[in-house]
Amino acid sequence: MTFETLGLHTSILRAITDSGYTDPTAVQIQAVPAAIAGRDLLVSSQTGSGKTAAFMLPALHKFATAADSLEVTAADKTPNQERQSARSRGERPRFQAAKPKMLVLTPTRELALQVTTATEKYSAYSRKIKAVSILGGMPYPKQMQLLSRNPEILVATPGRLIDHMESGKIDFSELEILVLDEADRMLDMGFIDDIEKIVAATPESRQTMLFSATLDGVVGNMARRITKDPMIIQI
Ligand code: AMP
Repeated sequence: MTFETLGLHTSILRAITDSGYTDPTAVQIQAVPAAIAGRDLLVSSQTGSGKTAAFMLPALHKFATAADSLEVTAADKTPNQERQSARSRGERPRFQAAKPKMLVLTPTRELALQVTTATEKYSAYSRKIKAVSILGGMPYPKQMQLLSRNPEILVATPGRLIDHMESGKIDFSELEILVLDEADRMLDMGFIDDIEKIVAATPESRQTMLFSATLDGVVGNMARRITKDPMIIQI
């Protein structure tokens, strides 16, 4: 099995080659084609298994494929273009809520930063894809500046994300992909209510991928509640 046979977009394949990966890992072999096909996933796998690429590569593939077929018309301006036009007219752009297409929830700042760094690497040849981290402990002005760029991908710890959601800085109405990374650890850390609130703010039509060391007990119950007909992958 090669990355080419997994069906990934050429821009992603180039980034994978630059990363020095020669073969997909076991979790990638199972998760990538299913995720490209639009399936929800429940994956039990450990750190070190290549799980970040297992969810990020198919997501970037989806965005790259959509961008190929997108014709931007004047009537279909993105919030970023509207912000730029306001600036060119000498107006101060009013703050518009960020409308991410993908959200990755992680239990810790460290994991969020790792996921963001990996995303930047995998999207090196995907024009226009921006990923930012929204983390507890980061100064608000810095985060507001990151959100004002209207990134496609948000990587966040749940508590800080809720703050921004509740103050209207993030709008999940256009979210396409939701990932819960290390979901068991997020529940152990007491994030269940925050996660429920965040999931409830996202469209039913989203694709959901949940990664966890275990899929038993409380995490298994939540996983089944927030996914539709998921493919279950145990590595
Ligand atoms: P993760 O499980 O996502 O934390 O990834 C663990 C490490 O494996 C990271 O350093 C990745 O860069 C690396 N990695 C992910 N996929 C592959 C692959 N197919 N081949 C070689 N290394 C990989």
